[in-house]
Amino acid sequence: AKGMGKGGWQRYQSDLAHSMVQRLELRTQLHEAIEDEQFMLQFQPIVELADQRVTGVEALVRWQHPTRGLLGPFHFVEAAEENGAIVGIGSWVLREALRQIAVWKAEDPQTTLRYVSVNVSPLQFRAADFVQQVREALTEAGARPEWLLLEITESLVLKDADKVVQDLRALRAIGVRVAIDDFGTGYSSLSYLRQMPVDVLKLDKSFIDDILTSRQQHALVDAIVTLAGNLDLAVVAEGIEEAGQRIALDTMGCHYGQGYHFAKPLWPAEIPALTTVAVPA
Ligand code: C2E
Ligand code: CA
Ligand code: CA
Ligand code: CA
Repeated sequence: AKGMGKGGWQRYQSDLAHSMVQRLELRTQLHEAIEDEQFMLQFQPIVELADQRVTGVEALVRWQHPTRGLLGPFHFVEAAEENGAIVGIGSWVLREALRQIAVWKAEDPQTTLRYVSVNVSPLQFRAADFVQQVREALTEAGARPEWLLLEITESLVLKDADKVVQDLRALRAIGVRVAIDDFGTGYSSLSYLRQMPVDVLKLDKSFIDDILTSRQQHALVDAIVTLAGNLDLAVVAEGIEEAGQRIALDTMGCHYGQGYHFAKPLWPAEIPALTTVAVPA
């Protein structure tokens, strides 16, 4: 508050109070927002690096707030994890994402789209009946298990390892695939991965950012891609923003990518045009 006049300090205090009130308001509104169906999904393409075909989409939640407009997860996911609302939100996201891919598949049997990727919060995954919830969501949507990829985080893998491993096995047994999201930002090591029954590694954007400018970073990503390949894990590189990164990753043998270079998160109606196989004239 150095250099602030008396009026400035008061304004600062009232701004602070105002933003605290707003945050408290958001928290109490989260549960109501589920009932009022104020959440929406955008979908970001995941492409095959070799030919840039859209092979999957990641469902990303947004909140159409009655007075504050469209809010991204940054504004509410942490709060929702803290007050438990993320369980209800996540359950809606799962059902809505599956409903949507079933529609896309039905509308275009030739679609290049193979799956929808859904973020699962640790709290949601830890529910005793999580596997059953996934089964029911698939049935309700008329979706095949192969159409679903669940994204979990490394932090989940480190706690309650037994229950997590058991549930991951059960999910894979019915044909649902599992990805480790934001790989490299948590604490788990590559050797730990060998014990985890997962199918996909999503390599965090922070690893991709410097591959063209840092020889060390390039070498690290190259090594992770090779190791993942040896462990039969597919790798999705996140946050690809330029062609040079796509080419470098493709050359390393990384098969999949996601990022603004290909597409930003899009509204559902924008997806079919990207996943239609062009019929030769
Ligand atoms: P995430 O799972 O790592 O998702 C990718 C985020 O990176 C998305 O932000 C996406 O818009 C952004 N992104 C993608 N490509 C690029 C790029 O090239 N450059 C940059 N700068 N950013 C890129 P978004 O949609 O704001 O989501 C933020 C986070 O919120 C997600 O990170 C995820 O952790 C969480 N989240 C989103 N939807 C859900 C959900 O349904 N459930 C849960 N539990 N968490 C969610
Ligand atoms: Ca994710
Ligand atoms: Ca991620
Ligand atoms: Ca990330």
